[in-house]
Amino acid sequence: MPNIVWIQTGACSGDSMSLLCADSPSLEGILQRYDLHLLWHPSLTAGSSFGTVLASLLAGREALDILCIEGSLMIGPDGSGRYDTWRGRPKIDIVRELAPLAGHVLAMGTCAAYGGVHAAPPNPTDCTGLQFHKTVPGGLLGSEWRSRHGQPVINVAGCPAHPNTITKVLAMLAAGMPLTLDVWGRPAALFGSLVHQGCTRNEYHEYDIEDESLGGRGCMFFSLGCRGPQTQAACNTELWNGHSSKTRAGVPCFGCTSPDFPSGQMFVTPKIGTVPKFLPLGVVRAKYLAYKNLARAAAPERVVNREMEP
Ligand code: SF4
Repeated sequence: MPNIVWIQTGACSGDSMSLLCADSPSLEGILQRYDLHLLWHPSLTAGSSFGTVLASLLAGREALDILCIEGSLMIGPDGSGRYDTWRGRPKIDIVRELAPLAGHVLAMGTCAAYGGVHAAPPNPTDCTGLQFHKTVPGGLLGSEWRSRHGQPVINVAGCPAHPNTITKVLAMLAAGMPLTLDVWGRPAALFGSLVHQGCTRNEYHEYDIEDESLGGRGCMFFSLGCRGPQTQAACNTELWNGHSSKTRAGVPCFGCTSPDFPSGQMFVTPKIGTVPKFLPLGVVRAKYLAYKNLARAAAPERVVNREMEP
C-alpha cells in the first residue's frame, strides 16, 4: 500500500482545503481505488503523532512513496530555518531529510513550488520554493535534485492548487502513468491550457471591449489586471467546485499558477502607452496592435453595449 505523507511548512492550509473540495476524483476515491495510505496529514490523520511517523520514515520502517509539501520553505533567519520549526527543528531540515527518501516529491501549491506570496519582496523570512525561487531554478533542494524515482519536484502550482488537479496528479502517480513536466516543473497534461481558454468573457476580449471597474460584463485584461491570457491552469476548463471560476465571478485572474506570482499590482494592468505591457502568451506586440485596432472597429453593437452575459 503506497504511503502519502503531507507536511505543511509556511502555509495557510489553502491547498489542504482545496484537497477536501476535490470531486473528480475525490481524495477518498483515489485512496480507495489505488489502495493509497495517507500516513500523515496535519489535519486529516489521527492516531500516530508526527514524531512517531517521522521516526519510522527516517529509520526506514515505513516507505515514503509520495511526499507532499504545502507551503513555502523558510530559510531565515540567516539560513538557520528557525522562523518555521517543529519541536525546535527547522522544517527545512526535515524536508531536506525526507525528500531523498521519497519516490516522488510534490510541491502542493505555488508557495512550495516557487515561494509564492511569502517570497514576494521584501521577503523578510527568506522564503523560497522546493526547486525554484520564483522563476530561478534552485530553491531549497537545488535544481539538480531528483527523487528516488529520478524525478524533479512535481509542481502542482496554484494559490491554492485546483482541487481536481491535486487529486489527478496523485491518481496518475498511483496508477504509474508517466508525468511529463513543463519548464516550470508542472505536469504538462494538467497545465497545458490558459485560464483565458474557456473564459465566458472571451468575445469581449476579441473585440477589445474592456471594463474599467469591477462588476461589469466586459473583459478585464486591458484595465483590471487579468492574467488569464498568460496563465496556464485549468480554472475555466474545469470549474472550481464544478461551478465557477474567478473570471466567471467577475474577478480578474491573478496568475497564481505562474512562478512569478504575485507579480506587480493586482486589479491593475500595466501598460506601454495604451497597450498592456504583458500580452497573451506568445503574441507579437506589433501584430497584436494591428489586430486589436481592427477588432475594435468591427465590434458588433450587442458586444459594444455589453448585452451578452459573461
Ligand atoms: S477576463 Fe481575463 S480570462 Fe476572461 S477573456 Fe478577458 S483576459 Fe481572458
